[in-house]
Amino acid sequence: MSKSQKKSEVDSKIMEIKRQQTLVLIKPDGVQRGLIGDVIGRFEKAGLKLVGMKMISPSKEILEKHYTNDVAYLTALGEKAKAGMEKSGLSDSRTPIQIGQWIRNQLGRYLAISPVVAMVWQGTHAIGNVRQLVGSTNPISADVGSIRGDLTIDTIEMANLEGRSVRNLIHASSEPEEAKREIALWFTKSEIYDYENVMDKVLHDAEWDSPKKK
Ligand code: GDP
Repeated sequence: MSKSQKKSEVDSKIMEIKRQQTLVLIKPDGVQRGLIGDVIGRFEKAGLKLVGMKMISPSKEILEKHYTNDVAYLTALGEKAKAGMEKSGLSDSRTPIQIGQWIRNQLGRYLAISPVVAMVWQGTHAIGNVRQLVGSTNPISADVGSIRGDLTIDTIEMANLEGRSVRNLIHASSEPEEAKREIALWFTKSEIYDYENVMDKVLHDAEWDSPKKK
């Protein structure tokens, strides 16, 4: 590979990382509790750029596509949930896919009870950075300083005992393919804004402090 090919490969990788996008939903508990401003403020303060936002009462169709019926997805969801249950001393004889299906049904009900705020956030490693700011799935184990650690006290244990979804305020995409799929599900292309702001220079412009500019 020539030097210029290598450089253009590195440049496109850099652009891909800097312009990564992720889908965030403020779930009904966050909307009802008046936490929209706080949640948005945390992402803004971290340096992420808001490129799409709307309030929406999600239809059954959108929720069924968002939390898919895909066997691999349901199995992974069920396995993660089962591991979490075992860690907190709860046993469950159901298979991972049965647990995944059970959680999916609960999520369908929970996200339909009142409007949600859907957003697309962009910036360096947006997916990982947003997940870090959101905190882990079970609020009781979420880091202090994270949205789930600071703003709610529900637990997976209580949710499972009561047979409902854990009210953990936020959904955030967990990997690039998922983010692309979810953004395309919740937003049309014209609802996503490509605009410049001061962060592009201060956080992302490698030339900002270049001696050539002086
Ligand atoms: P997230 O990416 O942190 O939101 O977590 P997952 O993708 O693993 O799960 C999706 C959603 O399913 C979570 O945000 C919870 O609302 C719900 N959920 C996950 N695990 C459990 C569980 O063990 N019990 C219950 N009741 N709900 C769960």
